[in-house]
Amino acid sequence: MALPTKLLINGQLLDGCGLLSVVDPSTGEPFVEVPRASQAQMEAAIAAARAAQLAWGATPLFTRRERLARFADAVAQNADELARTLVMEQGKPLDQAHAEISYAEFFLRHFATADLPVEIVQDDEALRVEVHHRPLGVVAGITPWNFPVLIAAYKLGPSLMLGNSFILKPAPTTPVTSLMLGALARDIFPPGVVNVVTDANDLGALLTTHPGVAKISFTGSTPTGRKVMASAASTLKRITLELGGNDAAIVLDDVDVAAVAPKIFAGAFLNAGQVCIAIKRLYVHDRVYDALCGALAAQAETAVLGNGLDAGTSMGPLQNAAQYAKAQHLLDVAANDGTIVVGGIEARNGGYFVRPTIVRDIADGSELVDEEQFAPILPIVRFDDIDDVVRRANASPYGLGGSVWSGDVDRAYELAQRIESGTVWINHHLHFGPHIPFAGAKQSGYGVEFSEVGLAEFGQTHVISIAK
Ligand code: ADP
Repeated sequence: MALPTKLLINGQLLDGCGLLSVVDPSTGEPFVEVPRASQAQMEAAIAAARAAQLAWGATPLFTRRERLARFADAVAQNADELARTLVMEQGKPLDQAHAEISYAEFFLRHFATADLPVEIVQDDEALRVEVHHRPLGVVAGITPWNFPVLIAAYKLGPSLMLGNSFILKPAPTTPVTSLMLGALARDIFPPGVVNVVTDANDLGALLTTHPGVAKISFTGSTPTGRKVMASAASTLKRITLELGGNDAAIVLDDVDVAAVAPKIFAGAFLNAGQVCIAIKRLYVHDRVYDALCGALAAQAETAVLGNGLDAGTSMGPLQNAAQYAKAQHLLDVAANDGTIVVGGIEARNGGYFVRPTIVRDIADGSELVDEEQFAPILPIVRFDDIDDVVRRANASPYGLGGSVWSGDVDRAYELAQRIESGTVWINHHLHFGPHIPFAGAKQSGYGVEFSEVGLAEFGQTHVISIAK
């Protein structure tokens, strides 16, 4: 690896207090060791970020944007190394890793041109009232292991654009690309403005309780999100939580099965199902149930599992041993509560491989339907009544995304308005972008990411009211 993989604290690349061994999920074997930070190093990162933020926040917007654009350039210039490393630590196929890096660059470029201008909300004989967006201070980005580069980029971008400094704390199973991003950031941003600190799942709580951190931007599981929210309360930090989902896709009786099947397959199985907004429950009308189960099963048969660096691999392993164990449990659940049409474990080379698994004749109430799998095991549930399926889709503590599939967009639109989720897609699934607000309903999240609304969450609303 040519890019350094050291901690970045106050502009310095440092060793930690120990080492984190990073496993290649396609073999189950460690392939590299990276530094593991101490508590004192995390404290130092917070202190450095606080000190650097004052000057960074006072830097003209033009300059902050120009640095962000340079950072996007650096990501693009190092895309090959980042993508190959992402495959090794995360498991996804190389083309998907490249897509993730490109999307990270795209988000960074968006934030490098974004603005939250001063808004004048009153201007009359008596008063002129302006709304400004000031920096919050230090933002901590706590990221998961499914899209480590993209998620780091889309937390770093808005933080820095608005004049905050940033501490990135990646998941311990995918720290390598985050450290590489740190090495790139070091050459572009003033010392302390960007810090990257890796832990063994033990330093997150320091960030969420430390008075020097103003905001936590967290993406991860709902149970950990609850802990973040509870511990952030002690200092009343700003928080944005992007958590788990159990997205329902509802397929009406008028779809063209052959046309929708590949799109639904991609929506369920991208990244081996390890996507917060993947399709996790597929509700299919009786009339097209057998046909769609068959089409999805046929597509699942064609999946080529393997090391993501091998040409032809279409699906990688699950990212870590815990997720693999969970998938093994869910395969037992699937066999018990339904019928596995195709899929199951693919034993190879010690890796965490699970084939895309199609489960039919399963009902709500099964753990496979009611809980988020985060694995390539899709339960397909039958329905014949629209009101009933809406009730079942909404009977979940989650509410991240959802989709409706129909040959008649008006019909789908009517249904989409009744789905309790942050996003509903019609005849597609998974699409999001920096200009589109992204939010979870119910226990899928707190706050908004992206768009002007999400951007404003990285700033402090500051009203200046002038008497005339
Ligand atoms: P999973 O359970 O799927 O491994 P998590 O949601 O626990 O995923 O992890 C997401 C991120 O949250 C990781 O960076 C992880 O290290 C971090 N994390 C774990 N526990 C805590 C905590 N108590 N406070 C803050 N961050 C945490």
